[in-house]
Amino acid sequence: MSSKAGSPSFCPECGASWPEGTTCQDYFSQMLAWEYEDMELKGQVHHLMVLCYHLQHPSLYAPDGLLNAQRLLLEFVEGGVTPQEVRQRDREKVDSGNRDWKIKARPGLVAAYRSTIHWTMTSGDVIVRGAGIYNESIAAWARSILEAMRASGNLPNP
Ligand SMILES: [Zn+2]
Repeated sequence: MSSKAGSPSFCPECGASWPEGTTCQDYFSQMLAWEYEDMELKGQVHHLMVLCYHLQHPSLYAPDGLLNAQRLLLEFVEGGVTPQEVRQRDREKVDSGNRDWKIKARPGLVAAYRSTIHWTMTSGDVIVRGAGIYNESIAAWARSILEAMRASGNLPNP
């Protein structure tokens, strides 16, 4: 499938614009590349970036995985929880040997939101804003995702 020259294409999941054959996977790779260039600073928001990207592409998750990711985002953005604390706490729970629920999507087990969410910021916006304010952009992205989920009635009960 190729789109006609000049006609914009958009991500079917997050709505980001895909100019000239770019896709959200390209944005994801670019964000990872920026992090690798400056692990000390930009690596600090890696957990948020991965979470945001997946939350806006829910078909990557199994239903339980999406719920878990939503709770994590709440904890990170509003609970002030650190990734280290989550790793410590969830070591048992997330270890696949001890877990009876699935994180990643598989045939017949694909997550979706209850109702349409109108995202106000996407991975494409993070790229446009540039590497210089990467950490600020990721924080703003995370907050915007939480607000969009809340506004559309898609946040799970605590
Ligand atoms: Zn997308």
